[in-house]
Amino acid sequence: MKDYIVRATAAKGQVRAFAARTTQLVETARVRHSTSPVATAALGRLLTAGAMMGSMMKNDTDMLTLMIRSGGPLGGITVTADSHANVKGYVQNPDVMLPAKNGKLDVGGAVGAGLLQVIKDMGLKEPYAGQTILVSSEIAEDLTYYFANSEQIPSSVGLGVLMEKNNTVKCAGGFLLQLMPFAEEKTIDVLEENLKRVTSVTALLEKEYTPEQILAELLGDLELMVTDTLDTRFYCNCSKERVEQAVVSIGRRDIQEMIEEGKDIEVKCHFCNTAYHYTVEDLKRIIKRSR
Ligand SMILES: [Zn+2]
Repeated sequence: MKDYIVRATAAKGQVRAFAARTTQLVETARVRHSTSPVATAALGRLLTAGAMMGSMMKNDTDMLTLMIRSGGPLGGITVTADSHANVKGYVQNPDVMLPAKNGKLDVGGAVGAGLLQVIKDMGLKEPYAGQTILVSSEIAEDLTYYFANSEQIPSSVGLGVLMEKNNTVKCAGGFLLQLMPFAEEKTIDVLEENLKRVTSVTALLEKEYTPEQILAELLGDLELMVTDTLDTRFYCNCSKERVEQAVVSIGRRDIQEMIEEGKDIEVKCHFCNTAYHYTVEDLKRIIKRSR
C-alpha cells in the first residue's frame, strides 16, 4: 500500500479537505534516524502534517518548514516539505524513551512546552512566517490552534502514528479540514457533529481506513468531492556539494586545523542522516572557496 494524499472539497467548496496515508514515509524516517517509538510518533505526526500542508502550496519551488522548538526531552522537531508532498525532517534527540501515558506514546511529554513556527517560502522577498505557542504539544491540536490564531482559518487537524510490537511503523496518516470564510452555519454544525463522532484518527488508521474513507467518515454527508490524489514520500535533496556548504561555514581556521591534522571528516545531513566523507584533498579545495 503506497503513501498518498487525497485533496477534496465539501459543501460546495465551503470546506477544503486533505487526508493522507504516510506509513512508508514515517517508517523511512524511523529507519534513517533510528528514532525511538515516541520520537517516531512525534516526527511522524509532524511529517504527515508537513506533507499535507506542502501539497496546499501552488508553485513548484514553494517550500514549507514546520519547526517545533520546545523544552521536552525530544528537544525540537524540524520538517520541510515541497508542493509535491516530498517531505523530510528530524528530531533533535531521536533516542528519547518515556513511559506510556494512558496506554499511549507520550508525545506531549516528549515534546514539552514550546513554540510552533510555520515558514512558507513562496519565492517572495520575505518568506511568510507565523508562530504560536504549543497548546498540548500533541502536534495536531497545536496545528489547529496555529491555523485559527495565526492564519485565521478555522481548521481541524488529526494526525496518527501507530507502532508494531517490534517498534516499526504499523500505520500513519491524518487529515486536515478547513472552513472557508463563506461557510454557512448549517455546514459548521454538521462538521462539528461529525468531528465529535470521530474521536481519533488513530482508531480509523487501525481499522485500515484509506484516506478516501477517512474523508468520507468526516464529510460523507456534506457532498464530499475528491479533487485529486498525489503521492507523498520521505525525500531529501542533499548531495555532497550541498552539505559542503555546511563545511564551508565552519570557517577557514577550523578547516585549516583539520587539514593539518591530516584526517578525513564525515558530515551528516540533518534531514536524512546520510553521511558524506571529505578527504584532506576535499578540505584543501573547500578552504580555497571559503575566503
Ligand atoms: Zn539529506
